Amino acid sequence: MKHPIMPRPTLARIDLSAVRHNYTVAKQHAARQGNPAKAWAVVKADAYGHGLLRVARALDDIADGFALLEMDAAVALREAGFRQPILLLEGFFEPADLATCAEYSLTTAIHRIEQFQMIRDAALPVRLPVYIKLNTGMNRLGFTPEQMPALKRGLQHPEGIGPITLMMHFAEADSARGIDWQLERFTRMTAGMNYPISMANSAAILRYPQTAHHWVRPGIVLYGASPFADASAESFGLKPVMTLSSKILGVQDVPVGDRVGYGGTYEVKRPTRIGIVACGYADGYPRHAPSGTPILVAGKRTTTVGRVSMDMLACDLTDIPDAGVDSPVVLWGEGMPADEVATAAGTISYEMFCALARRVPIVEV
Ligand SMILES: *Cc1c(COP(=O)(O)O)cnc(C)c1O
Repeated sequence: MKHPIMPRPTLARIDLSAVRHNYTVAKQHAARQGNPAKAWAVVKADAYGHGLLRVARALDDIADGFALLEMDAAVALREAGFRQPILLLEGFFEPADLATCAEYSLTTAIHRIEQFQMIRDAALPVRLPVYIKLNTGMNRLGFTPEQMPALKRGLQHPEGIGPITLMMHFAEADSARGIDWQLERFTRMTAGMNYPISMANSAAILRYPQTAHHWVRPGIVLYGASPFADASAESFGLKPVMTLSSKILGVQDVPVGDRVGYGGTYEVKRPTRIGIVACGYADGYPRHAPSGTPILVAGKRTTTVGRVSMDMLACDLTDIPDAGVDSPVVLWGEGMPADEVATAAGTISYEMFCALARRVPIVEV
């Protein structure tokens, strides 16, 4: 008989009922001003590291549509049988992509004027539904106020183009400057245009329900994290989806004056029981997480110490006498909000989720 090969104790649990719950929460927030908006479930970047098809299946019967930007992922959704509208948030990259949009019924963003001619030249057998992206101050993609007259002229002869929606994106919905300045630009730019509108990302959905027009675009909230530095996901009733967990592999009693880990960045100030966790930056844990980053061991909060290695990190078990080899560890997720870990590590939960490494086995619950 062959021996089974056991994986390392490091794994990511993905709670699909939490994804469904969070999508529903987003839609409830988007309906606070009376008109229920439809919601694109934003599943770009492999559903923020959670697995595109896994998340899409979890939302299949409730999602109004899926938004992403990778052509291959859009096609994969169609080939897996999803019938909802699919929106390409960055639009098409090459004229050759237009045939794919037509074949797979994809809605594409348009963000510069030349793209109208490309659509005309493609002479597609169907009219493409499009999202016209307006630059109201993010200054990434989209039509500027100066380009609006040309856009409006172009839309008088919309050859090859089907239903039109106007889209914009907020740059500071999660911080002090807020959204009014961008809304004012949008209103000025779109005077005389009468199309459906899509504006709100997660932060706007939660904080500015007046931005929920025909379609909203929740991303991070689906995955149970907060878009805000000053408000927890829990305070909005969101549930964590990804729980990255591991175990204590070894314990060291370290005397005062000794140091822990590469570079010796952490010097022990009291006799300290150090637990070594089987998780490192090659699993997707942020290498820049400093000593003091929160971590859950045997259900109790403690902190990391020293530098994060490729496959291990250290934490302080001195005040958790029950903890030892084999104690369960939660790096983030259930019981240890990803947002807290991200803040300590100088990043955002978005980046941590997307960085989950391929070697980490995923368990769906
Ligand atoms: C990623 C993205 C979203 C979702 O943003 P969240 O902050 O995750 O809600 C919405 N709209 C566009 C255009 C995006 O690129």
